[in-house]
Amino acid sequence: MSVEFDVAVIGLGAMGSAALSSAAARGAKAIGIEAHFPAHALSSSHGDSRLIRLGYFEDPSYVPLLKRAYENWRSLAARLRAEILTVTGVLQIGAPESKIVSGTRASCEMHGLPHELLDKGAMKRRFPAFELEDGEVGLLDPQGGYVRPEAAIMGYLKLAAEDGAALHFGERVVAIEPDDAGVTIVSTTGRYRARKVIVATGAWIAELVPQLRPHAQPIRQVVAWYQPRDGFVAEPQRMPCFLRDEGANGSFFGFPAIGIDGVKVGRHAHFREPIDPEAPNPAVNDTDTALLDGFVAKRLPDAASFRVRATTCRYTMLPSEDFLIDTLPGQPNVVVSSACSGHGFKFTSIVGEILADLALQGASALPTDLFSFEKHFGGRMI
Ligand SMILES: Cc1cc2nc3c(=O)[nH]c(=O)nc-3n(C[C@H](O)[C@H](O)[C@H](O)COP(=O)(O)OP(=O)(O)OC[C@H]3O[C@@H](n4cnc5c(N)ncnc54)[C@H](O)[C@@H]3O)c2cc1C
Repeated sequence: MSVEFDVAVIGLGAMGSAALSSAAARGAKAIGIEAHFPAHALSSSHGDSRLIRLGYFEDPSYVPLLKRAYENWRSLAARLRAEILTVTGVLQIGAPESKIVSGTRASCEMHGLPHELLDKGAMKRRFPAFELEDGEVGLLDPQGGYVRPEAAIMGYLKLAAEDGAALHFGERVVAIEPDDAGVTIVSTTGRYRARKVIVATGAWIAELVPQLRPHAQPIRQVVAWYQPRDGFVAEPQRMPCFLRDEGANGSFFGFPAIGIDGVKVGRHAHFREPIDPEAPNPAVNDTDTALLDGFVAKRLPDAASFRVRATTCRYTMLPSEDFLIDTLPGQPNVVVSSACSGHGFKFTSIVGEILADLALQGASALPTDLFSFEKHFGGRMI
């Protein structure tokens, strides 16, 4: 069978759509195959908004990639003439020694990033939406804000199509068969041949990369939107996006009222409840809403009154809670993007570039050691 494509991208969610666009923009003959439609309700990339921040408490080594991700988001927005990235600042609230506050501070200091540390009084005057405990502080990352997932994905797909990529929706890939010369891709409706394949299937990654089944765990996530009691305090000019450390109760995140549904909140990883990616997400229940209603009543009393809606989504967690973006060991024609452990969307604009680098050049000049199989598994997994 002759090679039909330079690269095939499987899964056109966040990472796949960005990778397809990046590959097509470089002149590669590319095809993208998506089982459903972009940003559908079982994917990890729906729900209006995703946090982006520069001072990264998780690990300061993400910061150089984030700087490049910001540049790429801004050029995507300029090309599309659309609102993709909005800067509101991100306020990281907690005890001064909490990981969210101390890690963000260390990351900002290490990379010389602007930041402000606010005590309880200063925070209340400046950002009246938030209720604080004595001794809590807020670390403001002024470059933080939010990205629009649906608009970004649709934008990447539009650009990919304009640059000549073939887009197939409603077509599920059931097997990839790599060999020395390329990869045969078998779908529910066809067979394709490509030099390289990028597998970006999110929560379904283990179906096509079964070596990841013991490591990449999809879990259920729930977010809810609340109508502000006081619309003034919940406007993005007065209420930045936030992360809040709640000690043994985990960490919560949220957004000001950026749409008609109002203020959005969730708890990172929710109840860490494993799910089967093949089954529909279990519906939102009273335990879910009690957790989120309790948080907003206590911590955002003026910003949020009654709950407008709640929905489920999926994280795909690795044990390290980092990302895995690399060529599959022993299979140089298979590139994997997986398991962004609930904090990957902000990196989509740079992950797309990395995936296209790996597929088209065999390596990326960007600092990607953090995401490698070697880092995660030390070569032991395969
Ligand atoms: C509620 C929630 C809040 C989050 N908040 C943040 C945040 O604030 N900031 C942040 O940076 N990140 C955040 N994240 C994480 C981020 O959204 C994800 O890391 C990211 O969206 C994952 O994108 P993906 O491309 O890997 O997966 P997806 O977007 O889910 O794409 C995978 C696609 O592959 C398709 N597919 C699967 N199997 C096949 C197959 N066999 N054939 C063809 N197609 C297939 C699927 O249909 C799907 O469309 C959040 C996630 C959730 C769920």
